[in-house]
Amino acid sequence: MKQEYLDALNTQKIDLMFWEELKGKTYTAPEQENKNITKQTPINLEAFGIPATQSQSNVFNDPGLTALPDEAIENDIHAPQPDPIEVEEETETPTESEDTIPERVFPSADDIFHFHPIAFINQMKLMFANGPTGECFCNKDFTTEDLKRIIRYVRYNTFYRDAKNRKQHISLLHKDHQLFHASNDIPSSDQNNFDRLTEILNTSFEKRGITKCSHKIHYLANMYVETQYFSKLEEDGNNHRYMPYKGRGFIHITWDTNYIAYSDVPGHENIFGGTNYKKVTSSLELAADTGSWFWETNKVNEFAEKDDIFGTSKTINNPKATKTSQVNGYKMRRAAWIKFKEAFNNYPYNCVTDASKNPREYGEGVLEEMRKWADEHVQYTMESSTPLRTKFDKAALEKLDCSEFVCRYLHKLGITDTVKHVSTGDMVTQESFRTALGSNNIDHIDNSEKSDFMPQR
Ligand SMILES: [Zn+2]
Repeated sequence: MKQEYLDALNTQKIDLMFWEELKGKTYTAPEQENKNITKQTPINLEAFGIPATQSQSNVFNDPGLTALPDEAIENDIHAPQPDPIEVEEETETPTESEDTIPERVFPSADDIFHFHPIAFINQMKLMFANGPTGECFCNKDFTTEDLKRIIRYVRYNTFYRDAKNRKQHISLLHKDHQLFHASNDIPSSDQNNFDRLTEILNTSFEKRGITKCSHKIHYLANMYVETQYFSKLEEDGNNHRYMPYKGRGFIHITWDTNYIAYSDVPGHENIFGGTNYKKVTSSLELAADTGSWFWETNKVNEFAEKDDIFGTSKTINNPKATKTSQVNGYKMRRAAWIKFKEAFNNYPYNCVTDASKNPREYGEGVLEEMRKWADEHVQYTMESSTPLRTKFDKAALEKLDCSEFVCRYLHKLGITDTVKHVSTGDMVTQESFRTALGSNNIDHIDNSEKSDFMPQR
């Protein structure tokens, strides 16, 4: 009896763990000063169409709830919006149908669900002891286990559309344990070999100054896309303008000019001669070395240190790009970047060289201003006092909740004369929202409640 009881308790405990990698960790009660938690009313999961009995194990384990590429802010909102998920042309057929993500169900009720992502992550950190602060990958090698965990996490939390247009996670195609399994030119002992990849990455990173978390996160996010999720070392297709110097290696060096430039590297003087360029796909070391060489030569670290994913992506794919739509695979690069940050112990929260100390430069316009606000980690707090919700002094700006953030945005856009005090309850219908704002200048757009909705005018 006692054992049964303990087993049941353990199952409950595991079901309550939101994230796979937190399962093994010790639960630590939140600190007392965090009074918000106790005041929160429980989420009505039935509004999501999830029966209460199965809610704990389903809703929080659905990677789809955490991982949609959040494109809106990066994009020029006036430009036509492409599909939110990078669609990959894959020929393999997933066989593990039990891994299919359940269909997402959106609330049919009027209840409103909201949380500030940063506050949410911070809250998770209070609940689970995360080891000493500052445990990060700056100036520290990966272990094989680190890399396995990181790759597994990113593959489970980034997505493609299958032939039936269903959203599927990448691990369905490239299982957790598979590495460069489609690279038939490398020795078979180098395929699916995490020890080798760990050693090779660590060596090439150290050699070329890819030493901080920010560098490594941006490198891996771009490498993820260039190598088709760590499965291949060569670009597909044979009709490229730059044949035979097509993309090869971890960061895909491309065009004759790059192969010629790489021949300045001692030991690789002959890379441009004959068909030697093919060696980049037949050796993991060379694939890694050309990648870190390109990274260093083109000073990609400078963008990485600003945590600027558009900057690192365009330097690798299309240096002349001025818009994200001009960078191949941008949406997946961005989705992977977000997931690598999470896998890096929630970068930048535990990083000793936090990139937020080297803030990125912001463009002009209200959206950029709001982005800056969000990047500065404005604390999420629901305040009820009007002055705190509508004024612009330090105390008022220190803490915002989601509706307050929206009201400040609408004011800056010129839709309201002043910052209105509107709660999320007033935003449920077009009519109540218009009444609360005192403006008819706002429309409800169909499907705007969906998480992959793109802003429109
Ligand atoms: Zn770090």
